[in-house]
Amino acid sequence: MDMNDNKRRRSMLLYILIAIVAYLAISQTLYPNLRATQIEQVTYSQFLEMVDNDQVEKVDLNTGDNTLQFTTGEGESEKHYETTMWPYDDTLIQRLEEHGADANATIPDTSGDLWLMLLVSYGLPILVFLGIGWWLNRRMKKAMGDDGPSMNFGGGFGGGGLGKSNAKEIKGEETGVTFKDVAGQDEAKESLQEIVSFLKNPDKYTEIGARCPRGALLVGPPGTGKTLLAKAVAGEAGVTFFQIAGSAFVEMFVGRGAAKVRDLFKQANEKAPCIIFIDEIDAVGKRRDTSLSSNDEREQTLNQLLSEMDGFDNHKGIVVLAATNRPETLDQALLRPGRFDRRIPVELPDLAGREAILKIHADDVKMESGIDLGVIARSTPGASGADLANIINEAALRAVRMGRRRVTQEDLLESVDVVIAGEKKKSTVLSPHEKEVVSYHETGHAIVAAMQKGSAPVSKITIVPRTSGALGFTMQVEEDEHFLTTRQEAKDKIAVLCGGRAAEELIFGEMTTGASNDIEKATQLARAMVTQYGMSDKFGMVQLGQPASRYLGGGSQLTCSEGTAQEIDAEVQALVEEGHQSALTTLRENRFKLHEIAHYLQRKETITGEEFMNILTRDDGFAPKMPTPAE
Ligand code: ADP
Ligand code: MG
Ligand code: ZN
Repeated sequence: MDMNDNKRRRSMLLYILIAIVAYLAISQTLYPNLRATQIEQVTYSQFLEMVDNDQVEKVDLNTGDNTLQFTTGEGESEKHYETTMWPYDDTLIQRLEEHGADANATIPDTSGDLWLMLLVSYGLPILVFLGIGWWLNRRMKKAMGDDGPSMNFGGGFGGGGLGKSNAKEIKGEETGVTFKDVAGQDEAKESLQEIVSFLKNPDKYTEIGARCPRGALLVGPPGTGKTLLAKAVAGEAGVTFFQIAGSAFVEMFVGRGAAKVRDLFKQANEKAPCIIFIDEIDAVGKRRDTSLSSNDEREQTLNQLLSEMDGFDNHKGIVVLAATNRPETLDQALLRPGRFDRRIPVELPDLAGREAILKIHADDVKMESGIDLGVIARSTPGASGADLANIINEAALRAVRMGRRRVTQEDLLESVDVVIAGEKKKSTVLSPHEKEVVSYHETGHAIVAAMQKGSAPVSKITIVPRTSGALGFTMQVEEDEHFLTTRQEAKDKIAVLCGGRAAEELIFGEMTTGASNDIEKATQLARAMVTQYGMSDKFGMVQLGQPASRYLGGGSQLTCSEGTAQEIDAEVQALVEEGHQSALTTLRENRFKLHEIAHYLQRKETITGEEFMNILTRDDGFAPKMPTPAE
């Protein structure tokens, strides 16, 4: 490595030297007079005077730039002068002859000059740029290690970096992450605790003859803290942490990925006890199949990984952690005992978990006193740890934008909206009629939600367009979390989703495209009720679909015959239509309140759940009989 460095530095110097020499050579041929050591500039009158005094020996007129170069004296005492030619001096040549000066005129050869000029004025800068570029390129390559992604076809085998892994080596303590930095996820931490104590003290385990798990697989949706947990394990145990992405193993050349795996384990063996963390392992660990389009390189890499995991000496304390959000695609061989036999679920945080995560990240920013993070946690069901960290950060950014020194509750609430629905979009200007339609649409959702027994209370209605494309939204916040959804609740949810379109139909007698997202969600829910939850009367408790990916969403795959698929569609349609009709009925019964609230909303653009409920329940003869809240 050092040798190479020196070599590089030397050749760089050489390069610069050549550039300088080239520059000098070119400029010398272009301006030969530079060679003369001293040229004195004189005025034209002085020149004439010197001619008159018979001092001038040789005169050289350059018609190119209208300069006169002349010399006085001879041999040793020769002196060079230069002056600018007086225009239209017709008498000069006569005068020179009279005084015995040797006159000569140079008419510049512009064609040759042009080339030289071009060379000097363009070539040189290009040379310099090339030099700088070459130098930067070197530095970049160095920074990325010999094995950087810039490796070209030839270099793949030439450089010393063949098959060198680019596992980033981070000392655990240096990452500074410990279990304290991971909020919630208590079960995951508990499972990992054993690995921590093994890494701290491998001898204790080997003495008794116990084998600690070689590998553990962290599975869960994106952003739930899998990477963070792996780092925390290294931090807790104070061991070296090798992190590499699964995709980094998959190379262009068959065999290179496998070499990387070998090298990674070799490095780890030297640094043991340590943790090898393979992030997004599904990139390399995908199930090997027998299809023709199999990927040789990936399979070789996977095979190498499998045999390394069997082979390494666990007494020294090497633990391989891996993370994925698509565990169902992993090769079975990876999951057998002795490899990633421990599966540690890292799920989306619950209410308490969300509040704890918010708290951890809130500690990093300056906040006003009396901030209620519980409200934020309640209004973000389904948010991952990364989402919550993002909410805190957005709030801090907003505070700075507003010129405040501390984050307020309002910043936090607004940033929840931003994370859920996108930034407010100032450029979208709705026409008054469109605004009215959106107002009725959102109020429709809200009223249907409010009139149901088990629905979460409405906390906010807004008709400010968002960058996500939403023209408004109605937010419902659960008082507390529940983990089961009954069939009635699911049906109610569909009705709420249909409330927007129902209001449009009822009031304007027309349909708009504004309901597309509602329709998507309602259909998804209805389909899941039929195919996954066994909630349809027709099919009962039969699984008709399989979730395509448990952690990444993406709907389900049907596992039924074609005929059944048709019937499922009909069933789904019926469920959604039922919700639609129920929404229409609710809104018809409360159309006066619908008018009033929609107009109020249109004026205010954003109203709170409280304002909404005040108008809805105000006893003016139209107040609906509110359902008693569910226990
Ligand atoms: P994953 O690897 O599961 O996709 P990460 O570990 O990369 O997710 O998490 C992304 C970020 O989200 C973290 O850097 C952290 O700021 C935040 N985060 C996620 N989960 C938690 C948690 N349980 N506690 C604190 N912060 C979290
Ligand atoms: Mg990750
Ligand atoms: Zn809607």
